[in-house]
Amino acid sequence: MKRISRGIVRYGAWPGLLISSCAILAFGFSIDREVLFFNFSYAWIVAWLLLLERRLPYKSAWRVADGQTRADLSHTLLNKGLVQLLLVQLIALGLFGNNNHSMVSQLPLTYQVAIGLIISEIGLYGAHRLAHEWSLLWRCHAVHHSVQRLWLVNTGRFHFIDSLASVAASVPFFLLSGISMDAIVWVSAITAYIGILTHCNVDVECGPLNYVFNTPNLHRWHHSTERTEGDRNYGENLMIWDLILGTFLYKKGSHIERIGIGDKMPERFVDQLALPFRWHHYQDSKSALSDA
Ligand SMILES: [Zn+2]
Ligand SMILES: [Zn+2]
Repeated sequence: MKRISRGIVRYGAWPGLLISSCAILAFGFSIDREVLFFNFSYAWIVAWLLLLERRLPYKSAWRVADGQTRADLSHTLLNKGLVQLLLVQLIALGLFGNNNHSMVSQLPLTYQVAIGLIISEIGLYGAHRLAHEWSLLWRCHAVHHSVQRLWLVNTGRFHFIDSLASVAASVPFFLLSGISMDAIVWVSAITAYIGILTHCNVDVECGPLNYVFNTPNLHRWHHSTERTEGDRNYGENLMIWDLILGTFLYKKGSHIERIGIGDKMPERFVDQLALPFRWHHYQDSKSALSDA
């Protein structure tokens, strides 16, 4: 019985949390309270993940503190603030919110959301792949990959330049897609849901969904210390471009051993912010650094 219920949770948690959060947001839309209900839906996922990370961890070793929680949260808060500021500027400039008369915006909302997810993924995939392949951007992206455990709290651990680069890369595609403002909210919400689910330290199994969405099963390989595995699965929400461009990696049934990077990473948040500008100083330094 215990095995059966564990199996249900393993296979059901990922789709269950995604669908239930979307249902909460849909209710918010129905009463014109989408922002408030987006916050509820996000809190709903966080609460479940906190519980599941305790009851059904993917790796017990990843539950041990790594001294980076404060840095993880600081990066998350800085990114959220800056991205919101950027979006407010775009709306003020009239770049966002003007789509409601385009042809695509007349389509049913589900189609618009699918179009928005696929089109914005071009920018997100491109920015992410560039961050791995261009050494200057890697200096920023290394902050995200330096973690030695994955859990929901380090989902938002990105250097702010890295974050702004992916937002800047996806916004033009959003605008080009011509989807309505409501659809943009839906795509943004789904991006937030899928994002926080990818880092969870919960023993979920997404099965065939791995061929469509970015899941914890796939994203863990993206954090591998081996670049042949880590330079894979760039998709933020969908795996479509990884599948088309040959960077998709799904090792069904096998488990990741080590995650992290070969570069040195300062331990303090402020030093991590300075890292891209003082890269060689930190890489040549012999002290006070975590050798990932
Ligand atoms: Zn990456
Ligand atoms: Zn990650």
